[in-house]
Amino acid sequence: MEVTPYEEPSVRVRSLASLGSAVEVDPNVPVMRYFRSGKEIMRMADVYYDERNYENAFILYSKYITIFVEKLPKHPQYKQATPEDLKDTKKKVKQAFPKAEDTKTKLKQIFEKDFKLWQEKEKQRLAKEECIRQKQERMNEEQRRKHEEDEVERRQLQEAKELSLMEEQQRIVEEQRQAFLEEQRRAQQREEAEQMALETSTAAAAAAAAVAAGAEDAGLPPPPSYDAVKAGGYSVYKPAEVDTTIPKSSLRPSPPTIDRSLKVDRSTKPMNLMSTVTASGSNRYGLRDLFIPRDTVEKFLVIARENTTLNLETCGILAGKLAQDAFTITHIVVPKQTSTSDSCTALNEGEIFDVMDSRDLLTLGWIHTHPTQTAFMSSIDLHTHCPYQIMMAEAIAIVCAPTHNQTGYFSLTQDHGLQFISNCKEVGFHPHPSQPPIYEEGQHAKISINSSIQIIDMR
Ligand SMILES: [Zn+2]
Ligand SMILES: [Zn+2]
Repeated sequence: MEVTPYEEPSVRVRSLASLGSAVEVDPNVPVMRYFRSGKEIMRMADVYYDERNYENAFILYSKYITIFVEKLPKHPQYKQATPEDLKDTKKKVKQAFPKAEDTKTKLKQIFEKDFKLWQEKEKQRLAKEECIRQKQERMNEEQRRKHEEDEVERRQLQEAKELSLMEEQQRIVEEQRQAFLEEQRRAQQREEAEQMALETSTAAAAAAAAVAAGAEDAGLPPPPSYDAVKAGGYSVYKPAEVDTTIPKSSLRPSPPTIDRSLKVDRSTKPMNLMSTVTASGSNRYGLRDLFIPRDTVEKFLVIARENTTLNLETCGILAGKLAQDAFTITHIVVPKQTSTSDSCTALNEGEIFDVMDSRDLLTLGWIHTHPTQTAFMSSIDLHTHCPYQIMMAEAIAIVCAPTHNQTGYFSLTQDHGLQFISNCKEVGFHPHPSQPPIYEEGQHAKISINSSIQIIDMR
């Protein structure tokens, strides 16, 4: 189990300790089972310790202490405990305390180291981020400056253009004025010429008339008529209308605006530092994997065959080992038992546990046959299974239905069925509500192709 090293080492140790103390003793589970499970808890804790999985070791040592020092003495059957069990427990509690202390010390050192490492990495990460931020800031500043420069240049260009337009306009006006004056001058010349011609011809005519009439006082020619000049139609001077607005197309396109709110996109950054390693199991309850040898059912059906032909159930205890934070079933312990067509009861439980104890085995569930029925969990099966799963969350119930060629690998639903069945006080076959589901196929149970089951038949 790994935890993202954000928390202070002391906080991490404390949260592990609280996991260790978060254990309840169910008064409906026989006290005997707790003594058996206690041995298995210590066995598992030692495996974790040897494998240097100090977190899980610490949780289990803490659990052991919580159960046997604090909780179990309040169990209604505690006084019925055998002197051997009490003696063994006393011995184990004495071992559990220093082991819990030892793992705690080791964990503190590990967590301190983790934390320092994390702080170092965090410092580097922040420095890198600051570096990126400053770079971005510099880029923004540069773009802002460039934008301003462009703006100045654009304004200068526009002013120059306006000036040249104005000059052009003045030039046109001047040209028009010159043209007007030139036209006026020409008109005057024409008029003078016409006048002169008129005068000449009038004088000639008068002279001729005078000659003809012999008159001496032919008189002066009439003054030139200005009406005629006016009627000549000179255009009245009027400056040309020039559009001084600057055509839009002549404007420089404005430079792209920079969104200064733009942040560094952290989603593309590697996230290794932040990632949390998943809980030990990959299934939805975070359970450890439980490996079942592929020949388990086959071998069990062989030793159950005689009962099956007599339409009698057969049952066995699934036992196994813990290694690398996963369970593997290694044995089926078949106890002395009495059975009917739809029930099976193990006799002399103590004998079963002695056999398992001598082999350092853990109780990982049970297996039984349904000689004629399909593979399902009857209400009695659910109640039989419940204590197994209370003791070991990964415990599984294998139901073999040879006549239907079916096998079920069942567990009570962790979020409902386990609580529901442990609270159900009914006995014998009785209905349970089907929703929400009380049991399901255990997702953490996996068939292991490279291990084989061993059968210890005690019948
Ligand atoms: Zn059954
Ligand atoms: Zn019930």
